[in-house]
Amino acid sequence: MAWVKGNKAHTSKPERDRILARDEYQCQIRGIGCLGEASEVDHIDNTRNANYWRDSNKQAVCPVCHKVKTQREATEARAARRARGLYPVEKHPGLIA
Ligand SMILES: [Zn+2]
Repeated sequence: MAWVKGNKAHTSKPERDRILARDEYQCQIRGIGCLGEASEVDHIDNTRNANYWRDSNKQAVCPVCHKVKTQREATEARAARRARGLYPVEKHPGLIA
């Protein structure tokens, strides 16, 4: 699938299957245009905090809701960068767990 290309595939297939099974293959977002059946895994909090890799920060989502959320997060990240005065957004050295 397209979203797996490049360096975006930070959720392995066994992990994805585990989260999808946990959420019974039902999309957890249920936004406008939702397909209902989940086939992808989303990180609920996308800010790479200490909980980023925990299962509790993952949810089963359908491709439609996932795309909407990802686009919204990208927009918010751009706005946050602007608000901070155009500093390049790099990993905070203090956040390495
Ligand atoms: Zn959905």
